Amino acid sequence: MEAASHIKSIKNVTELQLVDNPAWCGDKESIKGDKYDDLQCARFICPVVGLEMNGRHRFCFLRSCGCVFSERALKEIKAEVCHKVF
Ligand SMILES: [Zn+2]
Repeated sequence: MEAASHIKSIKNVTELQLVDNPAWCGDKESIKGDKYDDLQCARFICPVVGLEMNGRHRFCFLRSCGCVFSERALKEIKAEVCHKVF
């Protein structure tokens, strides 16, 4: 989970509310370590615009509640509000 490694390093972190990617297939037993390709299918997505958390997009989280979403969503909605109100 390289995409989220920088988040885990933050001290005093709020428990993050990650949104599972419905297309993620990493739990299937056919996926072995050397065959796994997280660029094809990220485990989590941005709940606002649907971007996959695959390391190519910057993600942010709200300190108040820990919701995680993409920087693109932050710019599009132009407000640091919880996505759960949408
Ligand atoms: Zn929230």
